[in-house]
Amino acid sequence: MDPSPGTVTLEPDGALDLIADLLERDLSPGHRVRAFRNAAQVAREVGVEELRQRAARHSLTDLPGIGEKTARVIEQALASEVPDYLAKLAQPALKPRSAESAAILAALQGDCHCHTGASDGSGSVEDMARAAARRGQTWLAITDHSGGLEIANGLGVERLETQIEEVRDVTARLAPFRVLTGCEVDILEDGSLDHPDEVLARLDVVVASVHSRFRQDRATMTRRLVSALMNPHVDVLGHPTGRMTRGSYERPPYDFDHDVVFAAAAHLDKAVEINARPERLDPPVDLLRLVRDAGAKVAIDADAHAWFQLDWQVLGCDLAADAGLPLDRIVNTWDTDSLLAWAASHAA
Ligand SMILES: [Zn+2]
Ligand SMILES: [Zn+2]
Repeated sequence: MDPSPGTVTLEPDGALDLIADLLERDLSPGHRVRAFRNAAQVAREVGVEELRQRAARHSLTDLPGIGEKTARVIEQALASEVPDYLAKLAQPALKPRSAESAAILAALQGDCHCHTGASDGSGSVEDMARAAARRGQTWLAITDHSGGLEIANGLGVERLETQIEEVRDVTARLAPFRVLTGCEVDILEDGSLDHPDEVLARLDVVVASVHSRFRQDRATMTRRLVSALMNPHVDVLGHPTGRMTRGSYERPPYDFDHDVVFAAAAHLDKAVEINARPERLDPPVDLLRLVRDAGAKVAIDADAHAWFQLDWQVLGCDLAADAGLPLDRIVNTWDTDSLLAWAASHAA
């Protein structure tokens, strides 16, 4: 068990929240996640003393929202035991599918794309960094959404400045682990970006992604993606096809000339992302083979919106292995200095 220090304890409410987190990680049905989330809220409201009294009287299930399973978790947490339900879920759910995938996973040193509570994630910079360090990695880029993406509470320039300071503070505390500044900047409909160049120039890693106007025609979308790649501050093309295959909604990939976009990425020495979120797995393996043949680099990113989602990188390793990508083309197998030198070279 590896809870995030400072945010999760094995008090009853923390144990219930952690179970909800892990159920979410495993894409369990929403009603099950909500049942544990609600029970955590009830446990917080009621307080540990009343929970103790009720546990002694076997009346926990009289509380609204507490059933047999959640009552058992509360009883075990009160007894300072690791609840069985939690222990079972906490087994690593994701294992590499092949020896090749395991070798890629073992070589990964960082992740170029994750979110915090500043945009639409749920952890702090420090929560995310500590979780990455516990996974044995040496760097993590914090890439919250840019300001135009209002539904994701994107960061405007001022909040980004504040976050850059926070990243510096956390890096100073966690050294030698390095937290890198960054953003997932929106690619606007004409291929320009949602932050001015002088702002992007200050960041260590810039992921550029399409989050709107998915139905542009092939030529327009191709120009849009190539324009974004040509911005000297962009390092990674995020979730390159935009497809969503499961989860709360599905979306087809957008239409673009794959050869042209991947050749542009190769020519500009940029990375095409392998987005490892289970509902994305983007690009699919047939397109990833085109990326490989084009000679472009890739970044295997979990696009984590909570610390436990960093584990999703393994799904991207499976994809990279299936596509036969050589290790030296995967930028997050590099150490911090090499990664930073590569990213800085784009704007040189
Ligand atoms: Zn995105
Ligand atoms: Zn993202």
